[in-house]
Amino acid sequence: MPQSQPQPLPSADEPDCIFCKIIRKEIPSAAVLETDHALVFLDINPVNPGHLLLVPKHHHRNLIELPDSVAAEVGSLLPRLCKAVQAATNAEGFNLVVNNGEVAGQTVFHGHWHIIPRFTNDPIKWPWPQGRYEAEELGRMRDSLQKELGVGG
Ligand code: AMP
Ligand code: ZN
Repeated sequence: MPQSQPQPLPSADEPDCIFCKIIRKEIPSAAVLETDHALVFLDINPVNPGHLLLVPKHHHRNLIELPDSVAAEVGSLLPRLCKAVQAATNAEGFNLVVNNGEVAGQTVFHGHWHIIPRFTNDPIKWPWPQGRYEAEELGRMRDSLQKELGVGG
């Protein structure tokens, strides 16, 4: 039987990236969980107290650059983390947010998830405005997306 080779552990190897520095323990963080592939720590400027960041240890600029296997490993922590945030803060709910790209508000270009506990009458402005599709536009959009995904007719 072929022996499976041990996989190299991920490295936070971007010299100037603040999250890589936190993962390398060069700068401090209020870490709450560390696994082989992820570090979870409190956001230094929380939207609400208990706001967590789930950060893959390997440096990728954003979530679309994460390999599927890393996204699966790290993403699998989300239910446990969200449950802990709700319980520890007595939140009534939470928002799970990814800011991907400057236009979407990303400021640290090392992909990560925000888990933000929510409370009745907290100061967060939500929901954002929603629109509607013009005739045919919905179908065209679905076709474009399925073409990108390589699925559908
Ligand atoms: P984003 O704007 O989605 O890229 O999120 C980056 C988040 O990182 C922001 O919410 C910051 O408050 C947070 N942040 C930046 N520096 C630190 C730090 N040294 N420790 C903890 N959180 C940080
Ligand atoms: Zn990084």
